[in-house]
Amino acid sequence: MTDELTFSAPTGNPGAPTDTATAPTDTSGAPTDTAAAPSERLNLSGLFPVPTSQLALIVVDVQNDFADPAGSLFVSGAPEILPQVNLLVDAARLDNMLVVYTQDWHPAHTPHFAPDGGIWPVHCVAYTAGAALHPDLRPGPDILIRKGSRGEDGYSAFSLRDPVSGVTSSTPLDQILRDRGVAGLIVCGLATDYCVRATAIDAAARGYLTVLDLMAVAAVNLQPGDGDRAIAEMAAAGVRMADQHKLQPVSAERPS
Ligand SMILES: [Zn+2]
Repeated sequence: MTDELTFSAPTGNPGAPTDTATAPTDTSGAPTDTAAAPSERLNLSGLFPVPTSQLALIVVDVQNDFADPAGSLFVSGAPEILPQVNLLVDAARLDNMLVVYTQDWHPAHTPHFAPDGGIWPVHCVAYTAGAALHPDLRPGPDILIRKGSRGEDGYSAFSLRDPVSGVTSSTPLDQILRDRGVAGLIVCGLATDYCVRATAIDAAARGYLTVLDLMAVAAVNLQPGDGDRAIAEMAAAGVRMADQHKLQPVSAERPS
């Protein structure tokens, strides 16, 4: 497998809004609207040198406590990424990619939480409304990974860490992906500087060709610049970045 990922530049009319029903004739190159119309269709095939059947989409922690302004650990910018996350899910389904969602899934008391000595407000307690997937997220992933249920710091979709002992363990995700022959991953969701970062770096370390969609992530930014620093760390770990010019909406079905 080549280590070289080429982001093929889309041909013609770059950046123009695409709408299958009323395709604009104006090719002025206006920036693509971030609030994508439902009829838009992302072309994921150009991102990887492997067939889309060997790809998986990982949607990290798009849960009410992070994505709803009333959530206990609301991530500013989360509502704005939801349309792009859903476009990714739609495209992944059309391309027969495995669709994986993750959920932070904590007990009511864990050293992860500030009242128990950790750094975070209580969030995503198992089976509460805050832990539920955001209602605007497309329902029905192929695989659902819940992390942190035994009190671990569940930042990564691949690995868990006991916050007291420091002992690490694995989630089932890596084995699931290997069993299905997955070679490449697209990662999106919340939050850039924590669970997305940990998941993408773990994925690259496990040998997956890993692409982060910068249009479909948002950061907590406890410290200003945390999100940008996390992106730099992911890039240094081998994660490739895709932005709107490289993960280009296309208006028609690809020839198969
Ligand atoms: Zn958590």
